[in-house]
Amino acid sequence: MEKDTIAAISTPIGEGAIAIVRLSGEEAVSIVNPLFDGKDLTNVDSHTIHYGKLLDPVTSEMVEEVMVTVMKGPKTFTKEDVIEINCHGGLASVNRLLEIVLSRGARLAEPGEFTKRAFLNGRIDLSQAEAVMDLIRAKTDKAMNIALKQLDGKLSKLVNQLRQSLIETVAHVEVNIDYPEYDDVEEMSHQLLREKTEEVYQEVERLLSMARQGKILREGIATAIIGRPNVGKSSLLNALVHETKAIVTDIPGTTRDVIEEYVNIRGIPLRLVDTAGIRETEDIVEKIGVERSRKVLKESDLILLVLNYGETLSDEDRQLFEAIKGLEYIVIVNKTDLPQALDIDEVKRLAGNQKVITTALIEDKGIDQLEDAIAETFFAGDIDSGDLTYVSNVRHIQLLQQTMKALEDAKGAIDAGMPIDLVQIDVTRAWELLGEIVGDTVQDSLIDQLFSQFCLGK
Ligand code: GDP
Ligand code: ZN
Repeated sequence: MEKDTIAAISTPIGEGAIAIVRLSGEEAVSIVNPLFDGKDLTNVDSHTIHYGKLLDPVTSEMVEEVMVTVMKGPKTFTKEDVIEINCHGGLASVNRLLEIVLSRGARLAEPGEFTKRAFLNGRIDLSQAEAVMDLIRAKTDKAMNIALKQLDGKLSKLVNQLRQSLIETVAHVEVNIDYPEYDDVEEMSHQLLREKTEEVYQEVERLLSMARQGKILREGIATAIIGRPNVGKSSLLNALVHETKAIVTDIPGTTRDVIEEYVNIRGIPLRLVDTAGIRETEDIVEKIGVERSRKVLKESDLILLVLNYGETLSDEDRQLFEAIKGLEYIVIVNKTDLPQALDIDEVKRLAGNQKVITTALIEDKGIDQLEDAIAETFFAGDIDSGDLTYVSNVRHIQLLQQTMKALEDAKGAIDAGMPIDLVQIDVTRAWELLGEIVGDTVQDSLIDQLFSQFCLGK
């Protein structure tokens, strides 16, 4: 266990009526108690809250009226003694409180250090720690649900089951080799390995197949709006932003950055990207050519191509279709209140499998259908099936992909009739890779790097 006691402001800076300074470590109580004019905190029950005054250690004058929560380890987030000082004051007084506890021997916590301690002290595993980080960043309720499930240990449990299955197989094969009671031990081991490897392989594949959705919920759908001048791109942008409901959900102990370029469509965050200015772009093709604009557009998960119902399809429109060929897009035929000039059949032909939606943005018509189309495009309607374990973390996705590769190698080696111990190398590798997800086989440097991404005070 770490020796020193850490402290940080654990509420959003400048927000909210109550601010909290949190301490964790062996000396949390002994640092705060002499500063506290109220009950003797060394003598109170764990998990109780106490009103009192916080005194300046030098002048003994009152700095602030406070409520102090005393939580003794190991039943705390970090498994250490934790003290939370709640005060009403603004930024200045919270900072003052923090300064005082630092002057009494606490050390300013590094970003993510509370969570890191929870991990190091065995309170949570790595994927759960990462879930804390995701919670802080979650932009919609659905993204938050994924993170909560992960925090709950759902992913960890699944991953650990898979690891268990792999390691048992390896052990079993090991025993077979060491005690070859039968002549066909080699063949039996091959078969067992083949079966188990296949089983785990399919489960990893299933997890990965949901990863795209998870990633989208977590990071948002990178969306670009393109079209000729005057077709209604700005109007569309405004309509989408207008629809957005503010996301306010309070989870104790977490804060979230409000990022205004996100719009919330049916719980799915759309991130209106501005990669090299392609959001709301009128002459992208003309400006940088089909090839390059294609490259830029490829960085989007979704493209909204706006056309004008009141005009015939122009060469520019066709170029735009060319530029987004093979990408995920939705065609929005706008201005359906005008007399028809656009050949819809031709548009549908050009769009192929992609959806074509008609709107009259000026009359607020068609936005609902567009939202349906977006939700369907990315979630095929099953977004609410609550018991799915989504993998949304890029690090986890990469590890799962590497696990699949290792298992593929194992399967290939088995089918090629390679010696058992060679197959085992691949299986063991898969076991190690899965271990990195829960932080079992992960290196210290990676742990430091992961935790440094946290907000201060978490
Ligand atoms: P952008 O240049 O593609 O961004 O297009 P804007 O959104 O700025 O719209 C150009 C013009 O078309 C504006 O005068 C809008 O009011 C108008 N407009 C937008 N949507 C509609 C629509 O559905 N019907 C009609 N008749 N006009 C529209
Ligand atoms: Zn515009």
